[in-house]
Amino acid sequence: MMETGSIIGDRCVGPTADRFFESVNPATEAVLARVHDASAEHLDRAVACARDAFGDWHRLPAGERAAHLAAVAEILEERAADLASVETADTGMTIGMTSGGHLPRSIAHFRHFAQEATRITGEAIPLDDAYLSVVERVPLGVVGIITPWNAPLAVMSINVAAALAAGNTCVVKPSERSPVSATLLATAALEAGLPPGVLNVVQGTGAGIGSALVEHPAVPGICFVGGTATGRAVMERAGRRLKRVTLELGGKSPTVVLADADLEAAVDGALLSMFSSNGEVCTAGSRIIVEGPLHERFTEAFVARARAIAVGDPMLAGTEMGPLIDSAHRRRVQDFIAAGMREGARLACGGTPPPDLPAGYYLSPTVLVGVANEMRVAREEIFGPVACILRAPDADQAIAIANDTQYGLSATLWTADTSRGLSLSRRLRAGTVAINSTVVRDIRAPFGGMGGSGVGRVGGRWSIERYTEVKTTTLKVEGLPLPRLGRRNRE
Ligand code: NDP
Repeated sequence: MMETGSIIGDRCVGPTADRFFESVNPATEAVLARVHDASAEHLDRAVACARDAFGDWHRLPAGERAAHLAAVAEILEERAADLASVETADTGMTIGMTSGGHLPRSIAHFRHFAQEATRITGEAIPLDDAYLSVVERVPLGVVGIITPWNAPLAVMSINVAAALAAGNTCVVKPSERSPVSATLLATAALEAGLPPGVLNVVQGTGAGIGSALVEHPAVPGICFVGGTATGRAVMERAGRRLKRVTLELGGKSPTVVLADADLEAAVDGALLSMFSSNGEVCTAGSRIIVEGPLHERFTEAFVARARAIAVGDPMLAGTEMGPLIDSAHRRRVQDFIAAGMREGARLACGGTPPPDLPAGYYLSPTVLVGVANEMRVAREEIFGPVACILRAPDADQAIAIANDTQYGLSATLWTADTSRGLSLSRRLRAGTVAINSTVVRDIRAPFGGMGGSGVGRVGGRWSIERYTEVKTTTLKVEGLPLPRLGRRNRE
C-alpha cells in the first residue's frame, strides 16, 4: 500500500493515525494508498508557503521560470511509465489511455508553457505626444487549483504549468477519489529543482479543503475543474470575494450524424467519443443524434460494436474499457439507466456489470435507444459508459436538439459535405466542435465550455490570460496641463 502526503513547501506531510483517508483501486477494490487528510491549518501553511515563494518566483527572469518548467517535463518523462501505472490504478482509466494520452499530454503541458513563459509580452500605447501607456500582464499571486478524479495528472498539469509560467504560485486540491498522482507530480517537481512553495498539494475533502481554498483570503485566483453543480457553488463563494475564477465543467456533448455521413467512420468516432475513458470524460459524446434515413443502420452497427468492446483489467494492454471510479458512482450511473427506461428509452445493450468481472466497479458499455431530448438521460451528465441515441427528422432538427441543453462543451458533426458541415457547425453552441473527427485537443488551441460547461478557456495564450491581470502604467511625455487644485484662493 502506498503512503500519500500533502506537499507543503519543501515537506511531505504524511498520513497519521488520526488524519488519513484511503484511496481504492477501482479494478480490484483493494486499498491503493493511505492519504493525508489535511486540516485547515495545513491549508493555511500551504498558502503561506505559496505566498512566501511568490516574491522570488515571479521576479525570476522568464527564461529561468521556463527552465524550471522544462525540468519538470523531463522528470515526468523519466517517470512516465510508473506514473501511468499509478494513474491507472487510482482512476481505472486503461493503461493505453494513461500511458498513451494522459502522461504525454502532461509532459507536453509543461514543455509548452515553458515556451509560453518567454512569450508573455506587453504593449505600448502612445497617447498623442502627451503620454505613453505601457500595458503589462502581471501574475495573480497564489492560485488555487481544484481537480476532478477522472484525469488528475492531465488536468493538474495544464493548469499548474500555465499558472507557474505566468509567475503565479499554486496550491492544488486533488479529488479524494484519485489523489495519488498529484503528490507524485509535486514531489517530482521538487526533485527537479522547482523552488519549495511554488507548487503545493493539499490532500483532503472537497467540502473541507476545497471549500476553504475557494474562500481563502490570500488566494486571489481559483481554477476549478469538476461538475457543473459544484462549479456553480464555487463561483458563488469565490464571487463574494471577487476572485478570478476559471471553471471547466461538465458536458452532455452531441454527436450529430447526418444522413450522408460515412457510416463506418461515424460509428468509429461515436464509439471512441462515448466509451474511451470509460465514458468518464467531460467531452463524452453522450447524445448521439442521427438523421432519420441513417438512424436504423447506424444504431445497429453502433450497438454491435459497443457489445464487442473489451472491458476488463485496465492494466492489460488490450483492454478498451476499465472500471468506473467507485461503487457509489456505478450505482448513480445505473440509476440513470433505470430512469431512462422508466421514461420510455429502450436498453439495447449493457446496463449491468459484466458477469465475468465479479470484483471491481465495472459496467458494460450501455446503449439506450428511442431517447427523447426531454428525458433525464439526455439532459443530465451521466459521466459513465451510457450512450443515448436520438433520432432527428432532418439536419436542422438535429442542430436544434444538439443545442437544446444547459451545456456547451463540445460537439461533433459527421457529414460527407464538409462545406455544409462547416455551415451547420457554426450554429452549434459549443466551445469545441469537430467535423468528421472526435474532439481534438491541442495545447496550443483554446478549450472550454459555453453555458453550464464553464467560464474561460485553457490552452496556449488563453491560459496565460486567465492567470494574469492586465496592468497599465502611464509615463508622461509632454503631459497635458492639469487642473491645479487648491491654488485658486491663493491667486
Ligand atoms: P466534483 O464537482 O464532484 O469535484 C471536483 C473537485 O471539486 C474535486 O476535487 C472535489 O473534491 C472538489 N469539491 C467538491 N466539493 C467542493 C466544494 N464545495 N468546494 C470546493 N471544491 C469541492 O466533480 P468530479 O470529481 O465528480 O468530476 C467529474 C466532473 O468533472 C464531471 O462533471 C466532468 O465533466 C468534469 N470535468 C470537466 C473537465 C473540463 O475540462 N471541462 C475535465 C474533467 C472533468 P472531492 O472529490 O475530494 O470531493
